[in-house]
Amino acid sequence: MRIAVVRRYDFDAAHVLPWHQGKCARLHGHTYRLEVTVAGPLDHRGVVMDFAEVDEIVERHVLAILDHYHLNDVLENPTAERVALLVGERLTAAGLPWSQLRLWETADGSVVVER
Ligand SMILES: [Zn+2]
Repeated sequence: MRIAVVRRYDFDAAHVLPWHQGKCARLHGHTYRLEVTVAGPLDHRGVVMDFAEVDEIVERHVLAILDHYHLNDVLENPTAERVALLVGERLTAAGLPWSQLRLWETADGSVVVER
């Protein structure tokens, strides 16, 4: 068996995709949903990782630079894919042993990054 913990975060941000042929070329916002998966094994406490420990890292290293920001100020061409890759880079740099990230840009559209 394999086991993992998954935490979910919602944040709001604006962006523009200048190359887009449709409405995404105009300034608009999304309520993004980020799911962070950290896979096993269990430690001596019987957990993969304490939810609060995951939260602390995600809040400090990801949400602090994305929530309620204009993503074009943070990242060039902030597509969902590029935002998700940035999240992965930052969580890796912060030492979080994540195994999968899913970033929902809309209710029915998401991207997945696996490590
Ligand atoms: Zn958009």
